[in-house]
Amino acid sequence: MTGPWTVLKFGGTSVSTAAGWDVIADRSRAVLRDGRAWIVTSALSQVSNRLERAIDEALASDPGTSIDWIEDRHRAFVRELGIGDAVADLDPALEDLRKLLEGVRLTAEAPARLRAKILAFGERLSTRLGVAALERRGVAARWVDARALLTSRRRPGEGDSSRYLDADVESIRDREGCERLADGADVVLTQGFVASTARGEVCLLGRGGSDTSAALFARRLDARSLEIWTDVHGMFTADPRDIPTARLVRRIGYREARELAAMGAKVLHPRCLEPVERSGIPLDVRNTFAPAAGGTRIWTDEDEPTVTAVSCRTGVTLVNLRTLSMWGAPGFLARAFRPFEELGVSVDLVATSQSAISVTLDPVEGGVGGERFQDLVARLRELGEVDVVQPL
Ligand code: ADP
Ligand code: ASP
Ligand code: MG
Repeated sequence: MTGPWTVLKFGGTSVSTAAGWDVIADRSRAVLRDGRAWIVTSALSQVSNRLERAIDEALASDPGTSIDWIEDRHRAFVRELGIGDAVADLDPALEDLRKLLEGVRLTAEAPARLRAKILAFGERLSTRLGVAALERRGVAARWVDARALLTSRRRPGEGDSSRYLDADVESIRDREGCERLADGADVVLTQGFVASTARGEVCLLGRGGSDTSAALFARRLDARSLEIWTDVHGMFTADPRDIPTARLVRRIGYREARELAAMGAKVLHPRCLEPVERSGIPLDVRNTFAPAAGGTRIWTDEDEPTVTAVSCRTGVTLVNLRTLSMWGAPGFLARAFRPFEELGVSVDLVATSQSAISVTLDPVEGGVGGERFQDLVARLRELGEVDVVQPL
């Protein structure tokens, strides 16, 4: 088979029920009518959270319940799916996971590198289950290790943890590399969220990053389209869980979708628009629990309404820098932003006036009391008066 690929991404809630896997199999079969399906999945619902908690429990030498919860959840789901014999590597994977957590408990240390390795188990387990669940439904999928294709690059000025837990993977075209791993299969199942550093260590694309994995694969594959299947019909004018009267946005351009995602519309990971936009690949958001319903199509900008939606984000820090020496001083903004780059602190919104710069930041490593943020404030104080307002 050499037909075009469609990338199908299914989030945590979608892969957590047998009915969800029925939809994944149906959608794969529909794609196979005139192409091939590259499926990307998240961990089962709550598993990534529980893995984080299991690390914290191990660090605190607290026997905890999280690892048992994770094990029971997967075993129960294997039984529910009726795929007991087909998932031979469930036991060794759970055993590896327990050993890593035991290491954390004994050393009372969980460096970012190890956290990434532990968190990646969620997607490793869900995709192993998934291959068997699809086989049960008559769809032969090839399991591909995402780490073999997605390699992170290092950004200037970044600290250790962002390299492992919020890594940046270049969006390139590489159909050949993907075909090599697909090895002739017309359905591939691979992990979201997980990538590899240049040194071959596990790294992650940030919480919620499976959408970005899927988009990176879509660009690599020159995919016909990317479908992100989740637990709502698509992108709404506000979070439908908070605002029941929010309306479904049927069509939206990449640019506005990118803004909404960056401003907190959690349905899409903020970095997932760039790879598809660069290749002009349409992105459809669809509801796994209502597969016949229409969704949102994100594509090239069209005539867009003035206000499409409102989104909300919490835990934001505002930094104000005031100085009169900014007026008419060439290069002031460059000097003001240099500490952000050098300390690896990502700036979000920026407003400037004749005498002040205000920037908002996402949570900074170590918090506002941490060394990184305090260094930043000290550097900015060399330029003017600084005040910090948080959490907004
Ligand atoms: P998945 O596990 O499939 O990746 P997520 O939980 O990450 O799903 O994203 C889906 C959720 O995003 C929805 O359940 C919804 O509550 C939330 N959400 C926030 N803002 C929006 C929005 N503007 N439109 C749609 N969903 C939104
Ligand atoms: N499982 C990961 C998380 O919960 C990635 C994802 O679902 O997108 O953050
Ligand atoms: Mg998500």
